[in-house]
Amino acid sequence: MAREFPLERYRNIGIMAHIDAGKTTTTERILFYTGAIHKMGEVHEGTTTTDWMVQERERGITITSAAISAFWERTGQRYRVNIIDTPGHVDFTIEVERSLRVLDGAIAVFDAVNGVEPQSETVWRQADRYKVPRICFINKMDRVGADFEMSVGTIKEKLGARPVRMQLPLGSEDKLKGVIDLVRMKALVFQDAEQGSRFDVVDIPEDYQEAATAARGELLEAAAEQDDALTEKFLNGDELTEEEVRGAIRKGCVGLKLFPVFCGSAFRHKGVQPLLDAVVDYLPSPLDIPPIHGKTPKGEDAIRETRDDAPFSALAFKIMNDPSFSSQTLTFLRVYSGKLEAGTAVWNSVKGKRERVSRLVQMRADKKDELTECYAGDICAVVGLKLATTGDTLCDDKQQIVLERMEFPEPVIDIAIEPKSTADQDKIIQALQRLAMEDPSFRVRSNEETGQTLIAGMGELHLEIIVDRLLREFKVDANIGKPQVAYRETVTATKEAEGKYIRQAGGKGQYGHINLRVSPNEPGKGFEFVNSITGGAVSKEFVDAAR
Ligand code: GDP
Repeated sequence: MAREFPLERYRNIGIMAHIDAGKTTTTERILFYTGAIHKMGEVHEGTTTTDWMVQERERGITITSAAISAFWERTGQRYRVNIIDTPGHVDFTIEVERSLRVLDGAIAVFDAVNGVEPQSETVWRQADRYKVPRICFINKMDRVGADFEMSVGTIKEKLGARPVRMQLPLGSEDKLKGVIDLVRMKALVFQDAEQGSRFDVVDIPEDYQEAATAARGELLEAAAEQDDALTEKFLNGDELTEEEVRGAIRKGCVGLKLFPVFCGSAFRHKGVQPLLDAVVDYLPSPLDIPPIHGKTPKGEDAIRETRDDAPFSALAFKIMNDPSFSSQTLTFLRVYSGKLEAGTAVWNSVKGKRERVSRLVQMRADKKDELTECYAGDICAVVGLKLATTGDTLCDDKQQIVLERMEFPEPVIDIAIEPKSTADQDKIIQALQRLAMEDPSFRVRSNEETGQTLIAGMGELHLEIIVDRLLREFKVDANIGKPQVAYRETVTATKEAEGKYIRQAGGKGQYGHINLRVSPNEPGKGFEFVNSITGGAVSKEFVDAAR
């Protein structure tokens, strides 16, 4: 079987946002318009498709990063859009990191009333670190107090980025009708029937002409700056064609020089189809991003080109139990080079073991496609791997490589956990180990002195969800202790004061049920308080008490 889509018609994208900005609703609308689902879920009804886990439905937040494939037609060509879901809650920034690692571009969703919010800033900085090109969607233009210009302004001021308006809203609040396309200089008026599936393309209304002309002027200037030939044309006063404008904005976007801005209301079915066009027009294909680097077993640098005839290499970015797959383990992969065939063996170069790929699947919103092969640049899920954990490299065993690893932050909070029934002791350990395999920011540790089991994670909500999953998926009811919030501080002190702190803590100290040692860190410069059980930092209370 050959590749169905040429690589330039792939888009691996994420949708990132502050919680509540509308990421789930936007994803849902995208899946609807791409024909992946025919009945749209609403967040408040708890029926959205990407929120697989029960807790997510109940809490109304998105935790799991699921990859879903959809198709979009643009100028007569079909594109494959793989959507990698990213969570918006601050406790799960780790999930955001792992998806940023494997995607090529993203839609950043903002709430038009609030503009850039604190957590959108966190996610934006993460995306900067991974050099992810982004388009911005100012959502919720239907809300009272929605302010497009203010929101665009916060992208400039708070994120220090260069937003380029590609659209203006046509109306706002309860008068939102659609969007003005500044490339075509047309107004798109969305029909209320059929969930906004249709829209009329009309002339820009008189009272929007001036604002649209001014905004287009800035857009053309930004486009012209990306290309010398266009700069000349622009300065000569010649009209740039639509293709030239789109091509130049694409260049600027892929090169992270600018961030095209779109608007609408996902909830009111306005503006999502043009956003999909923009994904195709402005976000990179796997060919537009640099080839991945790694190390050979001898420690030499190696590169894998995004080509089907290169040796196979892939990164496991998500391990999950699929409830509709009789709880089999699905290992989500981003294939960087070569191809993977179902029924063959792969080399896990992190674990140093061979494993068999029994089946390959691609998740759609409403079904799974069984694949015989998966190619460079694509995302797929493997059924049958037992050893792979998040971040592992899978490759051709004759051409071994370890791809650039994902970085996972240390857990910041510890809670003691025990099963309600002692008969469940073995079961709980097994279940916790399984969860730790899925989630690299979750750790299981043991208190050597008391024999107590401790779980560590990125926040209280993170650990609450673990406890919730223990009950639902592994049928273990557990009691948890008081959270110990880890706190890392390097104290700069003189040698004398350093000695005093260490004496005060007695080299070792006791706080609650956690033992502590104070370890010198770069003598003379300062030292850190370290939790002797977890090896992590200690609670702030202890540091204060030791002073
Ligand atoms: P997420 O946390 O970013 O995934 O946001 P959700 O998609 O769950 O949306 C949060 C809330 O905002 C839900 O109650 C949605 O119905 C609502 N919402 C989403 N998009 C819009 C919109 O365009 N307009 C309005 N008024 N509400 C929206």
